[in-house]
Order: sequence, then C-alpha cells, then structure tokens
Amino acid sequence: MMAQTILVTGGTGYIGGEVIDQLLAKGHTVHTTVRNVAKGEPRLRGRWAEAGERLKVFQADLMDDAGWAEASAGCDAIAHVASPFPMEVPNDPQVLIKPAREGTLRALKFAHEAGVQRFVQTSSAAAIAYGHRGQENFDESDWTNLDADPPPYIQSKTIAERAARDWVAENAPGMVFCSVNPVGVFGPVYDADLSTSVELVQKVIDGSIPMAPNMGIGVVDVRDVAKIHVLALEAPAETVRNGRFAASAQFMWIMEMADMLRQRAPDLAKKTPTRRMPDFLVRILALFMPEMKQVKGELGNVRDVSGAHAEKTFGFTYIPAGQTIEDTARSLIEKGIVKF
Ligand code: NAP
Repeated sequence: MMAQTILVTGGTGYIGGEVIDQLLAKGHTVHTTVRNVAKGEPRLRGRWAEAGERLKVFQADLMDDAGWAEASAGCDAIAHVASPFPMEVPNDPQVLIKPAREGTLRALKFAHEAGVQRFVQTSSAAAIAYGHRGQENFDESDWTNLDADPPPYIQSKTIAERAARDWVAENAPGMVFCSVNPVGVFGPVYDADLSTSVELVQKVIDGSIPMAPNMGIGVVDVRDVAKIHVLALEAPAETVRNGRFAASAQFMWIMEMADMLRQRAPDLAKKTPTRRMPDFLVRILALFMPEMKQVKGELGNVRDVSGAHAEKTFGFTYIPAGQTIEDTARSLIEKGIVKF
C-alpha cells in the first residue's frame, strides 16, 4: 500500500485519535481538523511528537466553512469522524442534528472540490438499531426508524448518514463512499478527555453506579474501530464503494460487564456493582435524574448488531469484549482518571 495523505476530522476525539495513530504508524501523512488550533495542536503534537511534517493540524468547525478547503487540499481520502457526542440530552434535537448533518455535508463538499477520491464516514449503530420495537438482532441492512422519534443523538447520526449517501449519489457518484457504524466504543484511553461511551465503564468501576440497571450495550474496541476505518481507507475501491460496516464484538448487559471485570481482574472491580437495580427504582430515579431518563428508555432492550460483515470483508477478528472492558478499566486507573 502506497503512503497516502488522509484527512481525519476531529483529531482531538477518542476514535479520531486512534485512527490518526494507526495511519501514522502505517506511514501515511495525516491532516486533521480541530475546533481550536491554539488548544488542540499542542495536545496532538504532544501525542505524536515524532510525526513532524507528517501531521498537519487545521482549525475547522463543523458549522463554519473556514479551514475546510485548506484541510482537504492535497488529500487522497477523508475519514470524517467529528460529530457531537455529548452525555447530556439537549432539549432541542437540532443542537446535535445540525452539526452532524451540516458538518458531514460541508466535509463532503470541500472534499469533492479538492478532488478527494474517498470518503469514510463515522456513522453509528445509532443509525441502525433504533425504533423497531421487539427486534433484537440487527445488521447493515437495518436503518433506524425516525418515525419512532428516537433520542436526539440517534436522530443526528441517522440523518447525517442518510444525508451523506444522498449527497454522494447526487453530486459525486464517482467518489468512493462508505460508512463505519460502531456500537459502544471502549478500550484504552489516551487522557482524561473521555468519550461519552468510556464514561459508562468509568461509572461501573468508580462506584458511582451502586447497582447495575437492567440495560445493555454493544461493545467494540476502539483499536478495532480505527482498524476498520484504516482498512476502509486503503481497500480496493470496489470492496468498499457504498459500503456500510457495522463494528461490533458483542452485546453485553451492564451486570455482565461488572461480573466479567470481577472475574478477569478483581483488582479493577473493587467498586463494581454486585446487584441489579430493580426497574421500578430506575423509573423513580428517572423522575429527577436526567441520565436515568435515558436508562429508563433502554430497560431490558437488546440491540445486538452483528459486526460480521466488517470482519469478513477486511479479514480480521474482533478483540473479545471482555478484553476490551478490562483494558478500558485498566487504562482509566493507570492514567489516574479513576482512583480507588
Ligand atoms: P469524542 O471523543 O467526543 O469526539 C468527538 C469529536 O468531534 C471531537 O474531536 C470533537 O471536537 C468533534 N466535534 C464535535 N462537535 C464539533 C464541531 N461543531 N466542530 C468540529 N468538531 C466537532 O467522541 P468519539 O467517541 O471519538 O466519537 C467520534 C465519532 O464516532 C462521532 O461521530 C460519534 O458519533 C461516533 N461514534 C462513537 C461511538 C462511541 O461509542 N464512542 C459509537 C458510535 C459512533 P472537540 O474535541 O473540540 O469537542
């Protein structure tokens, strides 16, 4: 594989950082966007000090045209990773939908104008597995049903992926487009700026969840998610054109996560919950705790998204979910983010 120049949007993010890491390790040159270059660039230079000229940092916001032409210039391909992924649920869904959709279309438009040949969008299982009451197993053929009025983040990812596919079909049919659709992403962290997904494991190990609600989540390792992005950027065009690659190792209940940590690494599991929180308690807490409102909506739901298509297409095996959760917990403790 010849070295390429690749733009990774959202270089300060959890997944964006891992994608950059793997691209640099494979000899590619990386352009990346950050919202605030004065704050973001020193952090990225600190992480990849040896990259020198092979890493270029640009200031660009999803909601503003400034910086996108410069960031895209000279790139062979783009991994568009940046999108808002907050813990809080905004009252107005547009707070998430607008940057997700408009940011994706902005990245696409400037990429196309710069002659970029390939666009890999970081979408989500959020665009696959919601709004289908009673369905438990999902794959790339499924689309979240927006008529069911899912939470704002779910809407933002579904709308952004649909908009990207429509835009490419209409404006740039020659561009090689595909999406990567991860379930919950976990694994080693670089610093204390945690992605919302990792905050879940933080809560499981730091004692802030005394009992485990009857809720589950798909688990995939950030190293595998980045690997799928990199392989999608490098694979022959016909392998990935218009592709959709769910990234998922296993669906797991929170209680299973806690039990597994206790078995695999008791030193990391001193404060993990040992009992299940009764559903009625979740419902009562949801009356005055916003985060419990989200949990209430997920009680008992199985959303088992198969990651087999990506595994088969790119020829790799997912890191087992137990290893991923252990590595997440270990790195949170080693970095001093969780203290016992
Ligand atoms: P993250 O660490 O919060 O990263 C989000 C990135 O998006 C950050 O670099 C952030 O920049 C950037 N961003 C947000 N709003 C922006 C704006 N208006 N303009 C420019 N940049 C903006 O989260 P992550 O877990 O790495 O998520 C990255 C992508 O993966 C997102 O598209 C998310 O939807 C998707 N995803 C994540 C998971 C998961 O479980 N983590 C699962 C499925 C899909 P700042 O650093 O400046 O805030």
